[in-house]
Amino acid sequence: MVYRTIIEPFRIKSVEPLRFSTRSDRERALASAGWNLFGLQAEDVLIDLLTDSGTGAMSSEQWAAVMRGDESYAGSASFERFEATVRDLTGYAYVIPTHQGRAAERILFSETVRTGDVVPNNTHFDTTRANVEYQQAEARDLPCREAADLDSEAPFKGDLDVEALQRTLDEVGREHVPLVMVTITNNSGGGQPVSLANLRAVRAVCDEHEVPLFLDAARFAENAWFIVDREPGQHDRSPRAVAEELFRLADGCTLSLKKDGLGNIGGLLAMNDPDLAERCRNLLILTEGFPTYGGLAGRDLDALAQGLIEVTDPAYLRYRIRTAAYLAERAQEAGVPTVRPAGGHAVYLDAKRLLPHIPPHEYPAQALACELYLEGGVRGVEIGTLMFGRAGVDGHDSPAPHELVRLALPRRVYTQSHVDYVGEVIAGVRARADALRGYRIVEQPRWLRHFTARLEPLSATT
Ligand SMILES: *Cc1c(COP(=O)(O)O)cnc(C)c1O
Repeated sequence: MVYRTIIEPFRIKSVEPLRFSTRSDRERALASAGWNLFGLQAEDVLIDLLTDSGTGAMSSEQWAAVMRGDESYAGSASFERFEATVRDLTGYAYVIPTHQGRAAERILFSETVRTGDVVPNNTHFDTTRANVEYQQAEARDLPCREAADLDSEAPFKGDLDVEALQRTLDEVGREHVPLVMVTITNNSGGGQPVSLANLRAVRAVCDEHEVPLFLDAARFAENAWFIVDREPGQHDRSPRAVAEELFRLADGCTLSLKKDGLGNIGGLLAMNDPDLAERCRNLLILTEGFPTYGGLAGRDLDALAQGLIEVTDPAYLRYRIRTAAYLAERAQEAGVPTVRPAGGHAVYLDAKRLLPHIPPHEYPAQALACELYLEGGVRGVEIGTLMFGRAGVDGHDSPAPHELVRLALPRRVYTQSHVDYVGEVIAGVRARADALRGYRIVEQPRWLRHFTARLEPLSATT
């Protein structure tokens, strides 16, 4: 008998109570947060799907590892265990811990990228882009064609456009492309995976032009699972074996351990080039710390090493990836369109199609995100004109390409009944979709306005 129910592959040893609230409690909380979900107190949120970064639950073995942590300033045993684990997984000779992923990015790009350079990537994550641009260089996104079509069920919409990479290298010249990056999974592109075939093709182009290849590997384990599940000829392999191959196709990586490190904080930079490693370590000491801790406590290093071993467990990955697909199915059943196929770490609801009566400059995805909170205390994040739009000449914002609400799933935190509840909340909002109104911004900062802008519902003023 093969049972169809995919159960959570863990039982619960420590619980954290949720605080229930009424719709009027939530209306008050949201109003005082200026109708910006980033301004809420976390305890006013029932199911928090704002991000999957650093929000996961550690295992009992990780907590045991915390107690084993060695807090010696230099040469701690925790670092040795961390380094050995990362070397074993990635094959990279030099392992540099950092306090989170973006610190690894800053150090790597400071040492490799010069003014006027071009860094190709399938899609730069926002901190990656910012760190490339901070070096006065261009962060060039080269996603595959299928990535632009939200409805395409193509299995590897995270792939990098290899022909476009070839053209970039021919045009720009090897001397102005210090490295090529591939983000696995493609976070900004909906958490879509990159195929092994694509990464091999990228490697071949990099070899031809003698350019180093680095992975932005925050979700390497989720990407490996998609390869085992979807790529021809890979079904009999373990996610761990695939992950090992992915890392070995590149010359190094940056890695936010707040994602597939199953940690609440942490990152790393790793590579094979000894000279580059030496220069990166020198910079690390300046801002992050001594090379055997890099801004982390010994106990963090031990917990993260354990997380890197647990995260490729097939039972965990099956449950994880299925949870996102299951939530997407609940949304689609309720008549709420989503980006297809579901990503590894999140479900993206398409507000442009759900709320065609709200124009982009009235922030339809923000209207949907606010309503999910008011309806059931579910917090997601707007990825649309509030986040990406720019004020235009007529006073209206120029619209973002898509109006999405991302519901990101923290690792090992919520159970199936929590996800069922979120599905019901989505259906409840769907039933009243025609009555939803847009928002206007009453106050916004100059940069990254979505974090701190204050808004106002249009229904209250018209
Ligand atoms: C989160 C993330 C980063 C940055 O890592 P932090 O730990 O948040 O600094 C970089 N790249 C990708 C793909 C990410 O998801």
